[in-house]
Parts: sequence; structure tokens; C-alpha cells
Amino acid sequence: MRKNIVAGNWKMNTTLPEGVKLAEEVNNALKTVEPKCDVIICVPFTHLFPVNNVIDTKKLGLGAENCADHRSGAYTGEVSAPMVASTGAQYVILGHSERRQYYGETAETLKEKVRLALDNNLTPIFCIGEVLEQRENGTYFDVVKAQIEDALFNLSAEDFSKLILAYEPVWAIGTGKTATDDQAQEIHAFIRKTIEDKYGKEVAENTSILYGGSCKPGNAKALFAKPDVDGGLIGGAALDAESFMGIVTAF
Ligand code: PEP
Repeated sequence: MRKNIVAGNWKMNTTLPEGVKLAEEVNNALKTVEPKCDVIICVPFTHLFPVNNVIDTKKLGLGAENCADHRSGAYTGEVSAPMVASTGAQYVILGHSERRQYYGETAETLKEKVRLALDNNLTPIFCIGEVLEQRENGTYFDVVKAQIEDALFNLSAEDFSKLILAYEPVWAIGTGKTATDDQAQEIHAFIRKTIEDKYGKEVAENTSILYGGSCKPGNAKALFAKPDVDGGLIGGAALDAESFMGIVTAF
């Protein structure tokens, strides 16, 4: 059966001491509750190793927010999948809309990143989602399908089964505008069907599909109650331990 998951995406926020403190707060909060989902924090590269040292990674998973599309070499400023894995991280967010929009990530580069992540035993949290214009002109089904097909459908069923997907409508990220629970369910069901058509029912049923976009303690319960919404990828609300835990305990 697929897992329920709540994953934080800290983006480019917190200095190292602030990040370690936040990770400790989430880690401590998890000692007093028995969450009904896996809990993950995805943090800036600089924070991975120190955060790994202060959390119980059996209870709180750790991930990066990106990795390079090359294994090693003359790529100044890049951080590779083997480097991420060597910090103790188990996950990596790939294809976030901010990376696609501001850093020109394409399906081709994402294919490489997914391959390298899997080769290094990192679980990709692979993001897909349409912009507002595509939502409004009704092309969002095609957009999301193409994002999945172009970057992921080269994978074997075995490798595809290792992924977590995150549907994040770009118009809902950091805007305070959330997709309604019915809008989320509609597209999550479509994503699952797209996976089923390629890899079969078992793979589709076992794939966790997270919702991301202004998810908060106040709306998480209704979103997570939908049958094809298996949790959330959380930006802003992951920067405060109490609000992040409010979403974790929505399950
Ligand atoms: C995100 O960027 O992954 C995200 C979901 O952000 P927010 O929760 O702030 O909308």
C-alpha cells in the first residue's frame, strides 16, 4: 500500500543555526506524537549534514531540494547526488516549479537527475504542476501528463515505483491560494490513471502523490481526506515547527 507522507520544503530559508534549531523542534515534536504518515524535511545543501546529526532519521526523513545533473567533475557550484547521499539524506526534491522557472530545468536535465538520484539510493520527490493560464484554459491535464511522460516514462516499472510524486499547481505555491480538495482530487486521480496506463494498476496504486501549494493546518485535513491525495509537500508552513506539525497531525 502507498504511504501517506508530509514533506517540508524549506527552500532558500534559514541560516544554519536557524535550520538546525527548526529541525530539532520538529524532531522533538515527533517524540510526543505517533504520526499516521512519514515525515520528511527537505533542507538547503549546507544544512544536510548538521541536520542529519540532530534528528532521528528513522522518524524524520531528510532530503535535499535539488541535485546536479552530472555525477562529478567541472561543474562549479553544483552539488551531486552522491554528495547529497553522503550527508545521510534519503530524499531529493526534483523538478520543483521554481527550478523549472528560474533555472531552466527541462525534462532532459530532470531525466539525468532522477537517474543519478536513484543510482545513489535517494528517493526523488518529483514535482509537476501547471501555471495559472494552463489551469484557466483547461490544458492542465495535458501539461501535467507531458511533464510525467517526458521526464519519467523512460524508467522501468521497478524504478518508477521508487518515486514520490508531488502535484503542485504553480498558481497555488506561496500565494495563499490553495486548490480546493475537489480540484486536487480530480488531478491526482488523473495522475494515478496516467501512471496506471503506462505501468499498470499495482504501480499506480502504490505511488504516493502529494499535494503542494499553500497547504496549511487549516486546509490539510480536507485535502488529505481525498482518496488520491497521499499527503503534502509543504513550503511556507514548514518553516514553523508548530504549523508543520499541525499538518502532520492532520492525518
Ligand atoms: C512548495 O514550494 O513546494 C510549496 C508547496 O510552497 P507553499 O506551501 O509555500 O505554497
